[in-house]
Amino acid sequence: MTGLVYKSTGSWYTVKNELGVTYECRIKGKFRLQGIKSTNPIAVGDYVDFELDTKSDQETGVISIIHDRYNYIVRKSVNLSKQTHIIASNIDQVFLLVTIDNPPTFTSFIDRFLVTAEAYSIKTVILFNKVDTYDEETFMEVKYLAHIYRKIGYECIGISAKTGKNIDQVKSLMKDKVSMFTGHSGVGKSTLVNAIEPNLDLKTKAISTQHSQGQHTTTFAEMFDLSFGAKIIDTPGIKGFGIVDMEKEEIGDYFPEFFALKQDCKFNNCLHIEEPKCAVKAALDRDEIAASRYASYVQMIEGDDQNYRTDIWEK
Ligand code: GDP
Ligand code: ZN
Repeated sequence: MTGLVYKSTGSWYTVKNELGVTYECRIKGKFRLQGIKSTNPIAVGDYVDFELDTKSDQETGVISIIHDRYNYIVRKSVNLSKQTHIIASNIDQVFLLVTIDNPPTFTSFIDRFLVTAEAYSIKTVILFNKVDTYDEETFMEVKYLAHIYRKIGYECIGISAKTGKNIDQVKSLMKDKVSMFTGHSGVGKSTLVNAIEPNLDLKTKAISTQHSQGQHTTTFAEMFDLSFGAKIIDTPGIKGFGIVDMEKEEIGDYFPEFFALKQDCKFNNCLHIEEPKCAVKAALDRDEIAASRYASYVQMIEGDDQNYRTDIWEK
């Protein structure tokens, strides 16, 4: 039968079938999957085929097939093996929580996040949280930012996790989908999840495991069903999407408004920096591309490799 992986603890996978029955499953033999070299063959969010293990007196299963993933997020291990660890897969959307002051979220951070999400083919919705605290100036700033990001295709919603403002809108976007929440510490992720589903217990603790390479701490992602037909993936201790190995030439492709103009640049490998007859620079001069977006782009292009090859969330 087919099921969805809700939790993985290394050797056992919690899999829920279409009837909502949960089985603890193992995998048999070695899985070599989709050319991804990863330390874990199966991740939360994977659809798998499994058979019940008749030899066991418990209702356990053996996973035989993993269905193709339409996206996944990874973490690269810091040890020498540089192996990829797949944190979660098949994510419909990520809600990026943004606050203006408390804590501040800079556009460079938002843009870097969006580039990563684009690279992973994950849809992002931007939530401007704490609207209940906005003064006139903050309100204008959010309005401006929302305009910039809406124009290039990102849905933006002003919310208050505290007062409940526009939480219904977030919930309706979440229905029948798999969502994740992210953003700086203190932006209100826990408060929001609590406003969405008051009785959900996301206190999944980091579990320390012993690996053959030595002691290191691993945190496990977990999927939860919400009462209104939504799913969320909680990634305790994981601050982001991990590393994207990107060539400089690729970065512009993950700025949708740059990508749309790319074919109009004189050079097809245009980096949109100093090349003549660059359609992106021309659009910037006409104010059709936001200066803050272009600045983020230049920062990523000019930064050393670490800037875009390092986990953007580790700071
Ligand atoms: P997390 O680190 O992203 O999980 O953030 P928390 O949910 O712990 O929230 C950090 C602080 O911001 C807490 O003191 C919350 O009460 C507060 N907070 C969260 N959402 C709102 C909001 O919409 N309005 C206001 N005024 N405070 C909020
Ligand atoms: Zn160009």
